[in-house]
Amino acid sequence: VIEIGQPEHSAITTCAYCGVGCSFKAEMRGEELVRMVPWKDGQANRGHSCVKGRFAYGYSTHKDRILNPMIREKVGDPWREVSWDEAFAHVASEFRRIQYQYGRDAIGGITSSRCTNEETYLVQKLVRAGFGNNNVDTCARVCHSPTGYGLGQAFGTSAGTQNFDSVEQSDVVVIIGANPTDGHPVFASRLKKRLRQGAKLIVIDPRRTDIVRSPHVEASYHLPLKPGTNVAVMTALAHVIVTEGLYDETFIRERCDWSEFEDWAAFVAEPAHSPEQTEIFTGVPAADLRGAARLYAKGGNGAIYYGLGVTEHSQGSTTVIAIANLAMATGNIGRPGVGVNPLRGQNNVQGSCDMGSFPHELPGYRHISDDATRDIFEKLWGVKINNEPGLRIPNMLDAAVDGSFKGLYVQGEDILQSDPDTKHVAAGLAAMECVVVQDLFLNETANYAHVFLPGSTFLEKDGTFTNAERRINRVRKVMTPRNGYGDWEVTQKLAQAMGLDWNYAHPSEIMDEIAATTPSFALVSYDYLEKMGSVQWPCNEKNPLGSPIMHVNGFVRGKGKFIRTEYVATDERTGPRFPLLLTTGRILSQYNVGAQTRRTENVVWHAEDRLEIHPHDAEQRGIRDGDWVKLVSRSGDTTLRSLITDRVAPGVVYTTFHHPNTQANVITTDFSDWATNCPEYKVTAVQVSPSNGP
Ligand code: SF4
Repeated sequence: VIEIGQPEHSAITTCAYCGVGCSFKAEMRGEELVRMVPWKDGQANRGHSCVKGRFAYGYSTHKDRILNPMIREKVGDPWREVSWDEAFAHVASEFRRIQYQYGRDAIGGITSSRCTNEETYLVQKLVRAGFGNNNVDTCARVCHSPTGYGLGQAFGTSAGTQNFDSVEQSDVVVIIGANPTDGHPVFASRLKKRLRQGAKLIVIDPRRTDIVRSPHVEASYHLPLKPGTNVAVMTALAHVIVTEGLYDETFIRERCDWSEFEDWAAFVAEPAHSPEQTEIFTGVPAADLRGAARLYAKGGNGAIYYGLGVTEHSQGSTTVIAIANLAMATGNIGRPGVGVNPLRGQNNVQGSCDMGSFPHELPGYRHISDDATRDIFEKLWGVKINNEPGLRIPNMLDAAVDGSFKGLYVQGEDILQSDPDTKHVAAGLAAMECVVVQDLFLNETANYAHVFLPGSTFLEKDGTFTNAERRINRVRKVMTPRNGYGDWEVTQKLAQAMGLDWNYAHPSEIMDEIAATTPSFALVSYDYLEKMGSVQWPCNEKNPLGSPIMHVNGFVRGKGKFIRTEYVATDERTGPRFPLLLTTGRILSQYNVGAQTRRTENVVWHAEDRLEIHPHDAEQRGIRDGDWVKLVSRSGDTTLRSLITDRVAPGVVYTTFHHPNTQANVITTDFSDWATNCPEYKVTAVQVSPSNGP
């Protein structure tokens, strides 16, 4: 029995891990968090939670947290603790010096999908109004940027179409490149409940994830495609739907451009896209492709949920478009039970995209070249905004290596660990003259920093997160920031040090500014959220109660757009030296690179990452279960223990990446999505051999 004592005060807040956005009652005794209780009235979770949200909060008081700002002259020197005022003055003077010496565009900022909407809004405002350029990007670059592009093209808005309740009215659910049992557990529970009631399941994934077969749930079809062939599989499904006349002509004629549909239909109907031809290079049996297509098209309400197994490919954006094509062709858009739903990995990846974190977009997904939109912000901010898109993260790093980009402000993100081609990231950071990292811990990126600004946890600040269903949830402060400031205050102080006249007294005032400038947030305020509990954007005059389902009477862009999706094989090829394909994923108890969960009791559930390998491939190499193995790609190598399993097909290996010594991104390539530069994390040609250990 653990004696935890009676709480003295509490507040309802939102989990800071995945994009489900569960609500919790944080129960406190003084400044000590004694318990996180899943909140029964939470509109995303209805009283449920997983082991991360419920138990993995110990990092907030972990001894590794850095609580004082630090400066050093050059990388490698010892850190020197300084006052906040000295840190702000130093960063402001360094950034201004760099701009004077190298030009206005020599600095930029990176926002975090872990921080609040208000904090993200301020970072992009600092870049646009203070730095005078659009060199702002977000860690969504490496996960869901293809969702932004693909859904924007097809539907006119870069967000999922449904609320989580919708799944309770689905008859057929298609899961593509996602592992909800581990990645989005509370949503997975609701999905499994619906499946136990009789809804059908189709899983498209190279690996046999838990959802394929679990107690009382068995997928009707598991399509174990070869990694990198998503577009071909989607097009084969479309081929069946078109050639067998399974499409919804009424919906298409009413809601889409019929001539664009005809063009697309002619393309997918080509014999080269038949299931029989597709089976040859994807490995998915033609009969299963036909069966899955018929089930999705004619099985009733069909809903598609997808994850990073769709986006983190050289054709990530194309796959998102292909998914949208399927949904429009079958009329599965605009009502409960259907839709296209990206399962967002991070708590506020939706929000960070909504808030204008991309170098080409102002808040609300409005292009930077749009004069009327810039005018709104220019009037309010009292500055001229550059009308040219700025640099994406990979472009910033390239420019740094080339010598034209010299200063970077990184809020709540560890780009050295999370971005592809670690050596190139390190080279870019090393070439800069002022790298400012704002985080809870001295992360890997901080090894290249000149200034470290301590960050605050979600328990220490007020704000909002927006979850995967566009739900804006309140984050409420239950602890005094141990470092002295909430993250939004740090950005404001930095802006003031750079000469900007910012005087927000509370994050609610930042939300008021967001509402005043961003039509999809027009009615959102802290008072309104207090009254409603939460609300799904768009929330404005037209939709005063928010929008649980989007595109009900028409697409945001007007007519839904069918776009041809030509399959182009990735440049990452297997061959005699690298005969296996590596793909990656997450496990229930840990979160991303583990910076937080590794500093909590959750480590007892997952102490190391292991390499899953098929028994046939293991035997060929003389590898036994639990042996150390060396994993080598064209980019680098690492060592980890094996886990022999037939969850992966012969020719495919798989690992998680929660522990830094796994160094998954040393292995991965620098190929990326053609439209957004999202890295191709999910396909790497590798060789595996026995090893004596690290
Ligand atoms: Fe909910 Fe996701 Fe947090 Fe788990 S990690 S409690 S599913 S928001």
